[in-house]
Amino acid sequence: MANYSVDVPDMTQFLLGLLNIYSPTGDTERAIAYVRKAFDALGLETTLNAKGALIATWKGQSNEQPRALTAHVDTLGAMVKEIKENGRLRLTQVGGYAWNSVEGERCFVRTATGATVPGTILPTKASVHIHGGKEVSELERNAENMEVRLDARTTKMEETRSLGIEVGDFVYLDPRAELTDTGFVRSRHLDDKASVACIYGALKAMSEAGLVPTQRTTVLISNFEEVGHGASTGISADCVELLVVDMAAVGKGQNSDEFSCGICVKDSGGPYHIDMRRQLVELAQNADIPYKLDVYPFYGSDGGAALQAGGDLRVGLIGPGVDASHAYERTHQGGLSATARLIVEYLVAP
Ligand SMILES: [Zn+2]
Repeated sequence: MANYSVDVPDMTQFLLGLLNIYSPTGDTERAIAYVRKAFDALGLETTLNAKGALIATWKGQSNEQPRALTAHVDTLGAMVKEIKENGRLRLTQVGGYAWNSVEGERCFVRTATGATVPGTILPTKASVHIHGGKEVSELERNAENMEVRLDARTTKMEETRSLGIEVGDFVYLDPRAELTDTGFVRSRHLDDKASVACIYGALKAMSEAGLVPTQRTTVLISNFEEVGHGASTGISADCVELLVVDMAAVGKGQNSDEFSCGICVKDSGGPYHIDMRRQLVELAQNADIPYKLDVYPFYGSDGGAALQAGGDLRVGLIGPGVDASHAYERTHQGGLSATARLIVEYLVAP
């Protein structure tokens, strides 16, 4: 067992900083730059690939069985699909989520000049005083029936256009990131920024303890995971193992919780590699790290993207438990700490 300590308050501050940088899939440049700066400070060699993902390399003690580690920085969001006659906006979703999970959410439209216009995502029938409670509650929440009410004086399409808003502008969801005094982090987009923070916490703990990974390690911070092709590229061809760090699905019927590191045995893409699973369980047990084996029923990861793209890899998946995923999410510092520790144990394992 290696001797190191994960700085949980620092890792949490890194996470809150990252959560507050909008990064829907397709608009991730600023979030990638934030992570790159932190990795550079740890002395890693960093580079960006053509599609904008961050690739960091840590020369290990050996080059024989190179390993890769990945988490994704892109999140859910939306784009302006149409400027309506009444000046409000119709949206198209970026990533998969239920419309009711963003009802009433504050949002920000980023125009071509970089200005942001605030607004709120609402059903077209929002007021019970106008439509009555029954009609408001029975209106189906879908792309047709949801709109953005802009916080600007506009009631016409032309007035909205004169604010600089155009079809294709990104619409950011307010993450409302917060650390409670009970150690919970509640926010949107903990999937998968919580895992990016765990990787940062692990690498920092290793560098402070003077630990070096056993094998050369490629760290891929991917930026197109929510649409399915994040890690389809970015992992060097000679890697034989990939540890994906992504949220564990917490909820009814699940084994996962917010205080442990989830080890996924199977998701929608099928089983993860049994050798990886066995090794991760053994490492967690030996280091006394709280972990939960689990099956995630409606879930795909960058592990699937790497394999589908032809990667010849043993793939494992771990991550902090996240409640209400793809809605207003929550995890706990316990789960973050457990995940960061298991990453360290894996990287220094023989
Ligand atoms: Zn994810």
